[in-house]
Amino acid sequence: MIPPLLPGQPHFALRNGELFAENVPLSALAREHGTPLFVYSKRSMLEALAAYQRGFAGRNARICYAMKANSSLGVLQVFAQAGCGFDIVSGGELERALAAGALAGDIIFSGVGKTRREMQRALQVGIGCFNVESEAELEVLSEVAVALGQTAPVSIRVNPDVDPKTHPYISTGLKGSKFGIPHERALQAYRRAVALPGLRVAGIDCHIGSQITTEEPYLDAMDRVLDLVEVVEAAGIALPHIDFGGGLGINYNGEEPPGADALWVDLFAKIDARGFGDRLFMIEPGRSLVGNAGVCVTEVLYLKLEDQKNFCVIDAAMNDLPRPAMYQAYHAIVPVQHCSDPASRYDVVGPVCESGDWIGHDRMLAVRPGDLLAVMSAGAYCMSMASNYNTRGRAAEILVDGSSFHLIRERETAADQMRSERLVP
Ligand SMILES: *Cc1c(COP(=O)(O)O)cnc(C)c1O
Repeated sequence: MIPPLLPGQPHFALRNGELFAENVPLSALAREHGTPLFVYSKRSMLEALAAYQRGFAGRNARICYAMKANSSLGVLQVFAQAGCGFDIVSGGELERALAAGALAGDIIFSGVGKTRREMQRALQVGIGCFNVESEAELEVLSEVAVALGQTAPVSIRVNPDVDPKTHPYISTGLKGSKFGIPHERALQAYRRAVALPGLRVAGIDCHIGSQITTEEPYLDAMDRVLDLVEVVEAAGIALPHIDFGGGLGINYNGEEPPGADALWVDLFAKIDARGFGDRLFMIEPGRSLVGNAGVCVTEVLYLKLEDQKNFCVIDAAMNDLPRPAMYQAYHAIVPVQHCSDPASRYDVVGPVCESGDWIGHDRMLAVRPGDLLAVMSAGAYCMSMASNYNTRGRAAEILVDGSSFHLIRERETAADQMRSERLVP
């Protein structure tokens, strides 16, 4: 067994000074497909999923991959084939999930701003549940369903007012958040839902944030949700399923989040003690299924050595890897092949015309122009957030499976980018 380069990414390991994804050297992929290049390990995804499957063994449960973390068709296909459902947040994601082979009944639709058109399409294909985020949305969804002669299955997203202790931009379950219905208004919302002709109450859900690395907020939120289940059911409204959202963190830089299996052992201890163990449980993990299943391979273009600072200019940028610019997020950056030069301290930056276009600050690297670097833990919220800023085409993507690999997205060309635009006649 070759020791992994980073604890969170066991299937990206160095062999004789060269970085591999499973059994494929990243340098060979870069030579064939160019850079920047996202490379995913199928085994990593399936192992991350297996941790949840262990946690839910013997339970009535459905794992719905929150596809906004990485919505590339080849990635969705891996999860669809492994039996996952999907958590979607737009009509576009619905079409992607269906194109990747998802069963409509295994799709749940979250998000604060669903349009009538999105609701119609979701009802027409027969999605499993709408996670409704406001009283106003209940009214509109009922209208849309009645007009189609249907009844929409709904769960209400409640806001348990628990601090997930993560970055403020990815905290979603605190009072004053735009997400969900406040805890104290939940019963009233359920009363309204059962009174509306186009709705059928299927469950309750919550999602408190992302990149959560401790169990405590989950245990607190579960208590708050189960309190509500008791209150709502005491009012005569049954809640067949409990959807506990996503949010489990990954190891980017030494974080030690609980394993999905261990977390759910502890959550079920609480759930069983309170007598809710036989419900249908749903979860919506995103980052924890794909974040450490991917890296972004990039080429060093220039080394700029200056009095104040050294810059390592790479061919990947904030349009490919938006997390540092958006959340000051950390990605480990490592050479793909060993270089015997002494290491120097660099700010690793992209070519985009923004000072916010940095990928890593103060990194010790032994590199020369032309060398390849791997930006690690790049499987979640990178390609799915990628943009064309500076008219940069989006990167290509490769899925590695043992010793074989598949191109799952071609590099976007300038022509691709201009295809839907028109010159003024
Ligand atoms: C983003 C999101 C998720 C997934 O969050 P992760 O932190 O990636 O696990 C789950 N549910 C909802 C409603 C979301 O918006």
